[in-house]
Formats: sequence, structure tokens, C-alpha cells
Amino acid sequence: MARYSEALCRICRREGDKLYLKGERCYSEKCSFARRGYPPGMHGQMRRKPTPYCVQLREKQKVRRMYGLHETQFHLTFERSERMKGVTGENLLMLLETRLDNATYRAGFAVNRGDARQLVRHGHVLVNGRRVTIPSYQVRAGDVIEIAAGSRKLKRVQEAIAQAERRPAIRWIDADRAQFRATVSSLPGTDDFATILPGREDGTPGIREELIVELYSK
Ligand code: SF4
Repeated sequence: MARYSEALCRICRREGDKLYLKGERCYSEKCSFARRGYPPGMHGQMRRKPTPYCVQLREKQKVRRMYGLHETQFHLTFERSERMKGVTGENLLMLLETRLDNATYRAGFAVNRGDARQLVRHGHVLVNGRRVTIPSYQVRAGDVIEIAAGSRKLKRVQEAIAQAERRPAIRWIDADRAQFRATVSSLPGTDDFATILPGREDGTPGIREELIVELYSK
């Protein structure tokens, strides 16, 4: 997870979409993007026609910041998605979604991806009964993600579980939060992206992964 010194809500406003970087606040009326949905700074409300390159770059930055990756990590993930069979853009989203930190967040054991990454790094998360401390670890279909027995009373885990009950269910993760356990039932596919990514809840293309492919293909 890249470390940002600026306020998280500024990132959403800069990228022009809700990236759900905080937690409960993102689903409430206090969300800064909902109240001031224009870029931060004194020139934020100026109208400028973006160049095609600018549109592609912002789309890449948005996705990278949403998953909290450094540029190098993100580019390496993209290169991996290119080597896979299928559509590169969808492969990229699938690889990002199946990172262990993201899967822990999607399962509802963390309030946001930053928190999920820290849970993983600090050894609170098990995969198939074994402690895994690598946030970029790729989960596979059939994997069981679990909160370690000694970590289940952590306030942050308890709060995350309470909040997760109010979030839309994720189809590719079968979460049994009462048992602090979640099973990856399948790898996320096109239908899942339509429901779990910002802007796609209503079927609109909130993330345009084809722009990222175009940017990196130059
Ligand atoms: Fe802030 Fe809203 Fe973005 Fe959450 S979704 S980080 S509350 S601007």
C-alpha cells in the first residue's frame, strides 16, 4: 500500500469518483465527494477539456490509488495480466481483486483496503489455516481466508464486521463472519466487476480498464 500524506478524501475528489478509502464514512452523507464532487484546490472548479492522454492517465491513477499500489507494483500487475489468456483489462481487475488485502476487505474483516493490508502484514490473517503476511498474495478459488483465533476480539475487526453487514454482498466470496471465515467460491469475473467496482453498481462503466490498457500500450 502506497503511503499518502494527503487526506484520503482529496484522492477521491482528484480522481472524480468514490474510491471507498475510509470505511463507514464513505457510505454516509459525510462523504466529501458527495458534498464537493470536484477536484480539490483553488482551480478545482475550473473547466478544462482533458486531452486523451490525461483521461487515460487519470483512469490508471484512479484504479491504482483505489487498490493502494505503488506505480511499480501496479505496472508489474498489468504486465502479468498481459501474459494471461483472455482480455487484458479484465485480467488486470481480476488480479487486483484477488490480492489478499483486497479479499480480506471484501470479506468484511477490514473497514478499508489500507486496514486490510495492515491486518495481513501484522499476521492476523490465515489462508487455508496458514498465516500469510504478504498483502499481494493471490487468493484462488477454494481458498479459505480466516482471522487468526487470537485476533478475533480486535476492535477494528469487530467494527469492520458490523459495517460489512450493511455493505452489498460480494458474489465471489462466501463469508461466514460469525466464524471469522470466508471462502473464495470462484474467481471474480465480468458480472462481479459490474457490481463491486465504483460507478458500476448501476451498470455504468465506472472503471474503464480499456483506457489503462491503451495508456500502457503506448
Ligand atoms: Fe472520503 Fe467519500 Fe472517498 Fe470515502 S468515498 S474516502 S468518504 S471522499
